[in-house]
Parts: sequence; C-alpha cells; structure tokens
Amino acid sequence: MNTRPRKCIALLSGGLDSKLAIRLMQEQGIEVEALNFKTVFTCCQDVSAQAAHELNVRLTVLTQEDDYLPIIEQPRFGYGKGANPCVDCRIYMFQKAKTFMEEIGADFIVSGEVIGQRPMSQKRRDLDVISYHSDLEDLLLRPLSAKMLPPTLPEREGWVDRERLYGFCGRSRKGLIELAHQLGIEDIPTPSTGCSLTEPQFSRKVFDLIQIAPQRSRWDYEMLKVGRHFRFSAETKVILGRNEAENTQLEYAYRMPDSQASELLEPESFFGPTALITGPSSEEARRFAGGLILRYTRRLSPDNPATIKVTAGDKTSMFEAVETIQSKEAKLITETEFSRTTGRC
Ligand code: SF4
Repeated sequence: MNTRPRKCIALLSGGLDSKLAIRLMQEQGIEVEALNFKTVFTCCQDVSAQAAHELNVRLTVLTQEDDYLPIIEQPRFGYGKGANPCVDCRIYMFQKAKTFMEEIGADFIVSGEVIGQRPMSQKRRDLDVISYHSDLEDLLLRPLSAKMLPPTLPEREGWVDRERLYGFCGRSRKGLIELAHQLGIEDIPTPSTGCSLTEPQFSRKVFDLIQIAPQRSRWDYEMLKVGRHFRFSAETKVILGRNEAENTQLEYAYRMPDSQASELLEPESFFGPTALITGPSSEEARRFAGGLILRYTRRLSPDNPATIKVTAGDKTSMFEAVETIQSKEAKLITETEFSRTTGRC
C-alpha cells in the first residue's frame, strides 16, 4: 500500500450525502478539500459554508461562467422535471472540479451521489455517463454507493479501503441517517436541491427565454429570479416588482452595465410596482407596461391621473397609464405552458 498521504476534492452542496462522503474520507485519513458550485440558479453557499465549518474542511466556492448557459439551452442529456439539465450540469461541475484538483495537486474526487436517489442524475447509467464525460472516469469515487460500482483507482491503489465504503441504493434516507449518527453528524439537513431550475414555475420562465427570446444574455437569466414576467413580443418582455425590495432590484438591474432593459417605468402620482421593459421598447410596449402597473396597483381614485415616469438612458419623460384589454388579459409567463422540445424529457 502506498503510504503517501492522499488528498481528495469533495463536491459539497451542504446536503447530508455530501457531508457523509466527506466524513467517510476523513475516517480513512484522507485530506479533504471541499468545492461548492454557485450557478445563477442556486442558493446553497450558506449551507455549504456551514457544513464545511462543521466538517473542518477548507471550502472553495466556484461560480459558473458563461459557458454554463448553453447547457441550460441545449442539454445533451435532457431535462429533469423542470428546466434542470442535471446530468449535463454535473458533468460541467466535475470538469471544473478536475481542473481544480490538478491545480492544487489532489489525487481524486469524491461526491455524495447515491445510485437511484435522484431520478434525473443518479440512475446507475447517469453516474457512468457523468464519470465518462467529465473525463474523470475512475478518479471519481462515490463512497456511499461504491460497493455497487466497479472499484475506482483510489480503491484499487489502496489509497481508500473499499471495505469501509458503502453500497447504498435507492431513495430511502433511513440508512444514510443512521450512518450520519454513527459518524457524529448531528445536523441532518432536509433534502433540497436549492436549485430554481427544478421548480415548475421558474422553469416556465426559463423555457420562455430559451424558446421565444432570440437574444438573451446572462443578465436575462439573472432577472428570472425577480418579479412578475409578461411577454410582449419575441424581443420584448415586461417585468414588474412584487414588493418594494423587488422594485429596488429592478431599478438596480436597469443600471447594470450589461443590462438588456431599454426603459424603467415608475409610478409618479401613485404607489404601485416598478416595471422594466427588457429588449426594444415602443409606444405600444410602454402602454402595455403602464396597463400592467395599474393591474397590480390598488387603485387611487379613477379621477386621478396615473402618471408614470419613464427613464430611458439619461432621458426621462412622463405619460398617463390606462388599463388596456391586452394588459388586463395578459398571462404571466409562469402560467404559460411550454413544449419541452429543447431537450430530452
Ligand atoms: S439540481 Fe440544478 S444545480 Fe443541481 S445538478 Fe440539477 S441543474 Fe445542476
């Protein structure tokens, strides 16, 4: 057996499985360095930071780059129940993890995947696909299901004792929770992907962007997290704040250097939501957005004019909003059904 101390990279979401995978490596004297991925659609850093602290491992958070977006738009291995391209996403994460592993001189990678636990990315075949396409092959060890899988290089070389790994399979968490207690992990998180792409309503906004908008950017994806979205035309959308915090977010987003918004609309003579027109604006688009603002305003007296301030670049102007049939009947994008032709269903 090679006695050089070995080091691995562990993907740490902060969920129970990744915590167990790390603890199993530590039990075998392997040094662990944790890696967490932040995408536009995830929100797990606090959980992963807390888990890293609890496990006493160093944590590096990597942010997804723009090369992640084509994965959302055309996933090679299809979507899950929402707009979540989990297999492609995992491949992307492991490719980045491999680069990180090489940079810091680690020997292999571990993840908390369990065969059959998640329908989209943890079927046995999916695990093989992920290992193969991330170029990791047998440098990727899944300690929780290792005994159901062929021995990886760390096991064959004796860096890791395969006998002390597990053969979990399926969706039940009972055995995992028992193992957590044995390993002294008391804080057992409830299962959650922490990823908006798995949520049905959010997924509709993603499919709208992918299937209808010819021009889209990272900024457009960031904006999916804020407000009520209405489509005016293939190029133009209206986003309305749902509360004061979102109104402020829209104003901030309008001024970002990569903003795709053409106009910011703010009620001047009454209290109501801020609206952002993304893509090219027009007289009609502005009237539509003004009508939507009134639709979500607890209305002042109809005798009062509904004056709205329009900011476009360094110019401002005013107009009087009126409700129109189009703005009254417009469906939220989250209420619209989309075909899922963009990927495997
Ligand atoms: S749930 Fe989201 S972050 Fe997790 S693998 Fe799927 S797409 Fe990626």
